[in-house]
Amino acid sequence: MNILFSFILLFSASCVVSYTIQDQFYQCITLHSDRSIPFSTAFFTPTSNATSFNSVLKSTAQNLRCLTPSQQKPLLIFTALIESHIQAAVICAKELKVQLRVRSGGHDYEGISYTSEMKRSVSFILLDLAKLRAIKVDIEDNSAWVQAGATIGEVYYRIAEKSKTHGYPAGLCTSLGIGGHITGGAYGKTDRLLDVMNHSFPELGLTQKDCIEMSWIQSVIYIAGYPSNIKPEFLLQGKSLFPTVNFKAKSDFLRVPVPVTGLQGMWEKFLQDDSPMMIWNPYGGMMGKISESSIPFPHRKGVICKIQYLTAWTDGDKKTADKHINWIRGLYEYMGTFVSKFPREAYVNYRDLDLGMNRNANSNFLEASVWGKKYYKNNYDRLVLVKTEVDPDNFFWHEQSLPILPFKVGQDGKSLIH
Ligand SMILES: Cc1cc2nc3c(=O)[nH]c(=O)nc-3n(C[C@H](O)[C@H](O)[C@H](O)COP(=O)(O)OP(=O)(O)OC[C@H]3O[C@@H](n4cnc5c(N)ncnc54)[C@H](O)[C@@H]3O)c2cc1C
Repeated sequence: MNILFSFILLFSASCVVSYTIQDQFYQCITLHSDRSIPFSTAFFTPTSNATSFNSVLKSTAQNLRCLTPSQQKPLLIFTALIESHIQAAVICAKELKVQLRVRSGGHDYEGISYTSEMKRSVSFILLDLAKLRAIKVDIEDNSAWVQAGATIGEVYYRIAEKSKTHGYPAGLCTSLGIGGHITGGAYGKTDRLLDVMNHSFPELGLTQKDCIEMSWIQSVIYIAGYPSNIKPEFLLQGKSLFPTVNFKAKSDFLRVPVPVTGLQGMWEKFLQDDSPMMIWNPYGGMMGKISESSIPFPHRKGVICKIQYLTAWTDGDKKTADKHINWIRGLYEYMGTFVSKFPREAYVNYRDLDLGMNRNANSNFLEASVWGKKYYKNNYDRLVLVKTEVDPDNFFWHEQSLPILPFKVGQDGKSLIH
């Protein structure tokens, strides 16, 4: 009897296998997916094949600053092949209590779609949508259905393929992912240069002879800064022609003109960096006619222009990074006197973690309002209500995600969620 008992004990001990989160995620996806679509090649882990894991991680990552060894990397990358993989990934990550980060085009300024800046270690899975890039353009009803992983350049190409008279103003950089770009606002340009110049600056005497005539899709290539011999088909590669670099950026909105002395001080600061850049996008026109509360993007009536400050560098040395980051922080501090106030507005698509960060998944409404109000102004409160309603467990969270309220506001008053 004793011998039999020890045998059973030994046998069961040898059967206790500890599965890693990666194994469990794979098994869970298998359970929740259509098995007629093979997907074993859609998983990448640093332990099974570090080379392909790193190559997929870097494939669309735009900011090298976010790929340094100190940055927390995903436990696993899952490149969804069909839409139901996304649902399966959410179910499985929830079941395993592991965070899910979503990446479309990888252009997040702080890289939070593929790495983590949290001070405490965070285990997360990267759901990469780069393989979901179908585009259906319907010229008859002026609509396009686009999967989140497609790039804006591919959308431009597909529109131009169907029509010589249609266009779509979105990002200037053609490798931007639809998923992150559109959800954050997405500005671009349409060309009414002659009208605008002749109306606002007639003294410059701009005429049609000073312009180069080209098709809309050619202008996309031109504005992206690509050489003129690049064919529009290049856009289908979903890549930029330019190499990736380390960068840090910040943004502001201007509501009153900067006085000349202010501009002089700005130039002095500006020239202290070896790769400074500033982009001032004019506002007004239609931008000012849409109500601040009609969509989350609130920077409307009264805005003269948006300012983006940017600095970039190529070497991965920490000293170099610190030098550039300190410089841009100094410039931003200086500009505080001249730009919008209460709140000092910022463009959410130019994510800036200097504005503040959630400390963990128990993000706090008041703490998050510091950056939330800058990005969304009064829409922040409404967005938090929506978030509380659709994601009461705050499953989708990251450094600057919207928080949830600790209570739910219903018709019969407040009830506690947590
Ligand atoms: C070189 C460059 C040029 C740019 N030019 C412009 C410009 O001309 N105009 C402009 O408006 N902006 C511009 N941007 C900013 C750009 O719009 C944002 O960085 C945008 O968030 C990028 O989207 P993405 O899908 O490529 O990035 P990602 O890094 O994949 O995603 C950005 C954020 O959105 C989330 N996200 C991604 N996909 C989804 C999804 N399907 N569902 C929910 N959340 C999702 C991510 O988790 C992350 O938080 C530029 C950025 C760069 C780096």
